Amino acid sequence: MDSESREQSQEQFVYDEVNVMVATNAFGMGINKSNVRYVIHAQLPRTIEAYYQEAGRAGRDGLDSECILLFSPQDVQIQNFLLDQTQLAEDRKQQEFLKLRSMVNYCHTEDCLMKFILKYFGDNDAKNCGRCLHCTDQRQTVDVTKEAQMVFSCMKRTRERFGKTMIAGVLSGSSNRKIIDFKLDQLSTYG
Ligand SMILES: [Zn+2]
Repeated sequence: MDSESREQSQEQFVYDEVNVMVATNAFGMGINKSNVRYVIHAQLPRTIEAYYQEAGRAGRDGLDSECILLFSPQDVQIQNFLLDQTQLAEDRKQQEFLKLRSMVNYCHTEDCLMKFILKYFGDNDAKNCGRCLHCTDQRQTVDVTKEAQMVFSCMKRTRERFGKTMIAGVLSGSSNRKIIDFKLDQLSTYG
């Protein structure tokens, strides 16, 4: 967008004339809007520092607000790639990779999300918040060690040549042409 229409959009958002703003993560660094109810990330931020700052645009008026972080494994690859392309000194670069690793760990933790962030910033006494996705998760923990071993065993027996669709097909006993052609139905992990 040219700067004029960008400024106009920003103004409309600040004065509640539009309710939703879709933007790059640079948006809103300088604006002070107190009643943002949702911050939705459609991609993985590179650091917890960045995420904290961006997500922190929600609920500055103290009312309940929601931060949703959507990410996929490709995001990590993209961030890794971008980081690798930077002109940073090698030790700085390694530091940034560690920060990215923390961000990825945040996405995969099963602990309280708020506690994770507070711990990251050095607060080791942080308690569970009781409000985040993990604190309110009612699902039971199930031991799937045996099933996981079957998956790995199947990958090994197919000599690690196939992707997840084929492996899932073999494990579930599919009669897919390709599975029969490769004689994968004769493996002990078939079905
Ligand atoms: Zn929590």
